Amino acid sequence: MAASTLEAMHGPVRCPHGCSILPPDLLRRIARNGNRRQREAALDTLGLDHTLRASRATLELLGGPARRGLFGLAGAIKQRTVYDADHTETLPGRVVRSEGAAAGGDVEVNEAYDGLGATFDFFAQAYDRNSIDDAGLHLDATVHYGQRYDNAFWNGRQMVFGDGDDDLFNRFTISLDVIGHELTHGVTGDEAQLVYLGQAGALNESLSDVFGSLVKQYVRRQTAEQADWLIGEGLFTAKVHGVALRSMKAPGSAFDDPVLGRDPQPANMSGYVRTSADNGGVHTNSGIPNHAFYLVAVALGGYAWEKAGRIWYDTLRDRRLKPTATFRQFARLCVQNAEHAFGAHERDAVTAAWSEVGVAADA
Ligand SMILES: [Zn+2]
Repeated sequence: MAASTLEAMHGPVRCPHGCSILPPDLLRRIARNGNRRQREAALDTLGLDHTLRASRATLELLGGPARRGLFGLAGAIKQRTVYDADHTETLPGRVVRSEGAAAGGDVEVNEAYDGLGATFDFFAQAYDRNSIDDAGLHLDATVHYGQRYDNAFWNGRQMVFGDGDDDLFNRFTISLDVIGHELTHGVTGDEAQLVYLGQAGALNESLSDVFGSLVKQYVRRQTAEQADWLIGEGLFTAKVHGVALRSMKAPGSAFDDPVLGRDPQPANMSGYVRTSADNGGVHTNSGIPNHAFYLVAVALGGYAWEKAGRIWYDTLRDRRLKPTATFRQFARLCVQNAEHAFGAHERDAVTAAWSEVGVAADA
């Protein structure tokens, strides 16, 4: 179904699963192939994700993000609050750490606090962006959400983390790029508002992987060559045959497991997956733009956020980028932004990378 048709029926198609990090088909595979305990955790998570979809619609009706900070001469000011849901599904829960407070003994609280901070600092320092909405949005996160909840999501106004089932998945605060991924959904929602369907949805997902990975690279001061380009490393327990949820360097290679199945991501348009599941395979086909970004970053060398990231960030903010953009439309704007920001060498590198993943950006 075309995005415009869906929009006419339901309003804008935005992250219907609350922008969660795990695609529903992965959870469905666990529900099919896992043991009883794994199945229960996956089914509980799927059920809750479904409920969240409805509550998210309500949230949007009630109004957008709640609290915006002041942005004055002092520049961007972080304002983080971490809450504890105490294993309930009530948001946001009780305050357990506010901005400036010292670290306590709860590793999830500390990882959430640090991850929000790292993402805020990255966007502020690399792109002069004042928080998710570029207007000083306070960053809120809730940990210990639900019981054995196998997911993390951005609900349009805050981050929410499950503890994982401690069988297939560790705690969802464990990967910095997952936190960066989720918060970037907020940035994309504020800028391009790419619909969460088909190619535009895969671009939405890819942008979250791109900037999620860059947050991690920025903290680690890694060059494009040094970075692992993995999304969600550490999320899987030792029981799972896999290193992460996705690989931007080698899409399709992140996991191959009897319960979770095989990483379904293509790295090229020749492998584009046509499906009605997961909003047209938004977590699957994102492998194609992900790999294009990786190729640009490696071709240009150095810190990926400086050139490749800047080109993608400029494209995300480009007023010509439509909410229903295709890969090709996005790629063409990348080429133009590369030339505008840097020059012919960078323009050619971007054109070549998109061409290598099967997207003609020069025509
Ligand atoms: Zn996502």
